[in-house]
Amino acid sequence: QLRGRDIVDERVLEAMERVPRELFVPEGERIRAYDDAALPIGHGQTISQPYMVARIAEVLALGGDERVLDVGTGSGYQAAVLAELAGEVFTIERIPELAEVAKRNLEAAGYADVRVEVGDGTLGLPEHAPYDAIAVAAAAPALPQRLYEQLETRGRLAVPVGGRGGQRLELIIRSPEGPAVVKSVPCRFVPLVGEGGFPR
Ligand code: SAM
Repeated sequence: QLRGRDIVDERVLEAMERVPRELFVPEGERIRAYDDAALPIGHGQTISQPYMVARIAEVLALGGDERVLDVGTGSGYQAAVLAELAGEVFTIERIPELAEVAKRNLEAAGYADVRVEVGDGTLGLPEHAPYDAIAVAAAAPALPQRLYEQLETRGRLAVPVGGRGGQRLELIIRSPEGPAVVKSVPCRFVPLVGEGGFPR
């Protein structure tokens, strides 16, 4: 499905092939694990659509050694794909029950090295900053400033930016002159809820 669309980075396609998505969806949804669709994971949240996971991974252009922050752990699926592509992955989720399930999913799928934290990801995870790349899997009303500040110079931040009803995936590159923004595909994510996101 992804090869038939516009995902062209071979490393990303191989990572998507390696991560068993069925281990990240609730049992009742397993039959749909390989549909190119977001699926419910409880608490009003979703596991992201595989196309968007691949797209975010592709725009981050990871080479294998990077330190990456994944905001909005959900099921842990995006974090697992990022772990295939980078050196070190931290992920943060605001709903403790989801973080717990994600931890189990990541262990079962062979990604126990991914560090799962609970908290408001709009504030980033300053204790492990700076990051070479940050992936946000929830919609932000504007560029999340605290995340931008936790990037290395030339670091890359992928984040859906827009209203609750629809967004555009943006790639933001930290540079000495300020953020360089590249707009990518339209998308629709659940809201990023927190101090630097939407109110609850
Ligand atoms: N990448 C996830 C996956 O593959 O399963 C999908 C996550 S889902 C689309 C977005 C997640 O972001 C939800 O689990 C939601 O609870 C979480 N979220 C929303 N606001 C957050 C915040 N401020 N900090 C951390 N997580 C947040």
